Amino acid sequence: MLISEYIKINTSLLLSDKIDERESQAIVRFLIEDSLQINRIDFSTYQLNKNEIDMLNKGIKRLKNNEPLQYITQKTYFYGLEFEVNSAVLIPRPETEELVHQVLKDFDIKKKQFIHKENQIFLEVGTGSGCISIALAKHLPYCHFVAIDISAKALEVAKKNAKKNDISNIEFIEMDFLNEKLYSNYSQLKNINYLISNPPYIRETEKVDMNKNVLDYEPHLALFVAENNPLIFYKALANFFITKMKTKNGLLYAEINQYLANETKALFESFGITNCIVFDDLQDNPRFIKATQRQMEKRE
Ligand code: GLN
Repeated sequence: MLISEYIKINTSLLLSDKIDERESQAIVRFLIEDSLQINRIDFSTYQLNKNEIDMLNKGIKRLKNNEPLQYITQKTYFYGLEFEVNSAVLIPRPETEELVHQVLKDFDIKKKQFIHKENQIFLEVGTGSGCISIALAKHLPYCHFVAIDISAKALEVAKKNAKKNDISNIEFIEMDFLNEKLYSNYSQLKNINYLISNPPYIRETEKVDMNKNVLDYEPHLALFVAENNPLIFYKALANFFITKMKTKNGLLYAEINQYLANETKALFESFGITNCIVFDDLQDNPRFIKATQRQMEKRE
């Protein structure tokens, strides 16, 4: 069978109310390209043999069961870099690229003052696949990164991704950031200048709006928070920012729940973080919060 015929048949199999023809075809094409390592240019002339068809059919079956393509091919792209992913980590989202972009924009402005200053240290809380720290490290080679996660399996993936992208200025630590008592065990946490995180922030009640490919396959540990304490990670981040940062001109960047933007800002303010702004993602949802300590410094 010609690849072009295979695409036609299987594109129709994946159609649903969430996946239109164009997306379905793109998914089948990616699957073929990745599984068989065949260039798209050859799709119209390449004859698939039985083994190849069997192999592709296995992938199609997984896709029909709503498994994300990225878990099947075990790879994705984030901020122009390739990342390995499996079900231990969230598939990096485009919004999170926007967060990285914002940090890099801010640092570009600051470059002149930073360039000769070594040992500027970022702490990333809940690194998952490592995408945020790795993308930042690629562009900020003069900074150092400490990336923590509670999941040993996620850290295995993150470490592989750092290696794959030739990044050596990230130290990965397995720890529970919500357990403040542990902080003193890690001397690395004493020298943090910048804090960044895309923590779990989805409430159980928001599950109704979520797709099966997310709900059935992505790690719930990385996605969900208790209904009665949805800002638990932001409390810990605010607490760390106020009490544990090395400098008084630190920065905090976090991805947030769009439905809790006002609450998140109010929470930060209740911790005495007076200089914080919420900003939108490209879908115009309030998706990020950025805080600086500068204003507090002025008052001192
Ligand atoms: N934005 C992600 C989603 O919609 C969730 C990321 C998170 O919980 N930190 O699936």
